[in-house]
Parts: sequence; structure tokens; C-alpha cells
Amino acid sequence: MDGKTVMACIDASHAALKHHHDEIASLDQAIGDGDHIINLLRGMDALVAMRAAIEAESLAGALKLASTKVLSTVGGSSGPLFFSLLSGMSKALSDDADLQAFARAFAAGVEAVGQRGKTGLGSKTMMDVLIPVAERFSTLATQGAATHDVLAKLPRVAEEHMLATRDMLATKGRASFLGERSRGHIDPGARSSQVMIEAICARLGE
Ligand code: ADP
Ligand code: MG
Repeated sequence: MDGKTVMACIDASHAALKHHHDEIASLDQAIGDGDHIINLLRGMDALVAMRAAIEAESLAGALKLASTKVLSTVGGSSGPLFFSLLSGMSKALSDDADLQAFARAFAAGVEAVGQRGKTGLGSKTMMDVLIPVAERFSTLATQGAATHDVLAKLPRVAEEHMLATRDMLATKGRASFLGERSRGHIDPGARSSQVMIEAICARLGE
């Protein structure tokens, strides 16, 4: 895995987010201010525009480079959170990372998001997808699961936990202003995270 792999994951995420544009926009219109998908696609467009620089980097270098671009372009609450995910992963990675090392790096990235956003499970945010995926990833990697097995299982974990945000009460971010009225809507950040995880796993499995 190197900068080219990171760019392939960005391309896959970009295409999947564009495909789900209207749905993610409506989710954030329902319990936020409607800008989540616009914020993310602004970042994705900026990352695609720096393809050559990202592809020339190592795995950790490409994630670091992408993280700073995300911070300067995405904005909203989610910009600094996705920055923390990518930079947290980058700091934890070496260039000869195997599946276990990658699982540890993903867990470190998710931990960094938790510190930045001061939240864990159950607040109806992207963390309700990221934490269960990181945990299952670590378990599978520790058990010595094959890569194709991990890539098949993680999207299912992400989908199940994304759907579970529908009935949660939001206690963090803009959606928390709605109180009980936040129930009955899937969290937009949980949906966008799940869409990206699904797209990345599909691309890496090709
Ligand atoms: P904003 O809410 O500032 O408009 P976005 O629309 O870009 O930002 O992102 C909203 C998403 O960010 C939410 O759906 C939620 O998943 C996530 N989010 C908001 N606050 C937090 C937090 N403290 N920790 C983790 N995720 C959060
Ligand atoms: Mg918003």
C-alpha cells in the first residue's frame, strides 16, 4: 500500500459520495444545516486535484498530505474530525504495514476523532459507525483473518451501525439542538462514513 492506494480509496469515496449526494443532503437537512455532503465533496474535489502529489507519497505520507487538505477545505464539524482520522492513521503507520498494523492505525485514527470531537458511542454521530468498524477490524486482524474476509465483513458492520443511528437521540453536534426530534433520522456523518467504508472496501478487494 502506498500513495496510489490512498488515491484509489479517495476516488472510490468520491464516486460513492457523489452517487449518494441527494440522500446525504436530505439527512443533514433533517437534523443539521444541510451542508455535510457539500463540505465533503469540496474536500474530495480538492484531493482529486492533487492526485500526482498524493500518488507520489508513501502510505503514511499520502494520508498526512490528504489530512491537511481535508482540514483546509472541508470545514463544518466534520472537516477537523476527518482530519483527525487521517492524521491519526498517518502517525501510527509505517511503510511496511500489514493488515494488523493497518487495523491498529485505523483504531488510532478513530481514537483521535474521539479526542477531537469529545465523543464516543451513542451520541448519534459518525463515531457510531467508526468505533464498531475499528473494533471489528482489530478483532479480525488479531485472529489472522484473510484480507478478503475483512473487506467483506467491515461494510456489513458499518451498515448495521449506520442504520442504528436512526433511533438514537443526538447529544453532540448540531443535531443535538433538536433533542427528541433528532430521533427517526439516520445521522448524516454516520451515513457518509459508512458509504466511504463500503466504497473503499470494494475498491481494495478488486
Ligand atoms: P456541521 O454540523 O458543523 O454543519 P457537518 O454537516 O459537516 O458539520 O457534519 C455533521 C456531522 O458531523 C454529523 O452528522 C456527525 O456525524 C458529525 N459530528 C458532529 N459533531 C461531532 C462530534 N463531536 N464528534 C463526532 N462527530 C460529530
Ligand atoms: Mg452540517
